[in-house]
Amino acid sequence: MSDFQNPVAGFGVTFKAMFKKRLTEQYPEQQKTTAPRFHGRHQLNRHPDGLEKCVGCELCAWACPADAIYVEGADNTDEERYSPGERYGRVYQINYARCILCGLCIEACPTRALTMTNEFELADSSRENLIYTKEQLLAGLTEGMVDTPHAIYPGTDEQDYYRGLVTEAAPGTVRQPAVSRGETVQEAESTFGESEPASGKAVGR
Ligand code: SF4
Ligand code: SF4
Repeated sequence: MSDFQNPVAGFGVTFKAMFKKRLTEQYPEQQKTTAPRFHGRHQLNRHPDGLEKCVGCELCAWACPADAIYVEGADNTDEERYSPGERYGRVYQINYARCILCGLCIEACPTRALTMTNEFELADSSRENLIYTKEQLLAGLTEGMVDTPHAIYPGTDEQDYYRGLVTEAAPGTVRQPAVSRGETVQEAESTFGESEPASGKAVGR
């Protein structure tokens, strides 16, 4: 192509683009629906009775290429139980200043405790605010759930939870005092009202 033709060809590209449909998105006034498997903010899931699925194994943290996850596990006790098995995630943090939303952590999680939501509005002007804590990441309570800590469904074990045999909290289940977090029995009792005893279904074994 000659020196004369080069700029003409360049303007030709511009001219053709003038008649194409505009792709401008009016965000944030108009939000686009994300793809069903979009990689957004993480969520720590619960069993159907409200106990937590995370067992504090740290596999997600080891799988993370950006070193964005921090986990500290701890032992459950009968007086303060967060998950059906031996261990639970006492501290859980994801640093969204580091996370690249690759999803390797959710692939590594053996209990499906960690999944990703479609929420993508994660920007913030403070680094501190970008470190999401367990309390922020933990899934909310739905019908039939009681907030942790609370006892395992009577007559079941950890395996029954993973077999899907526990479908909601046992009748009369109440939240235990979170003594390891400095909560007193009186403070815990004042929150019992938020954890109404669930109607409960028989657990078929
Ligand atoms: S999505 Fe990727 S970068 Fe983000 S926490 Fe998980 S493994 Fe790390
Ligand atoms: S989220 Fe999953 S992989 Fe990470 S510590 Fe909890 S159970 Fe382990």
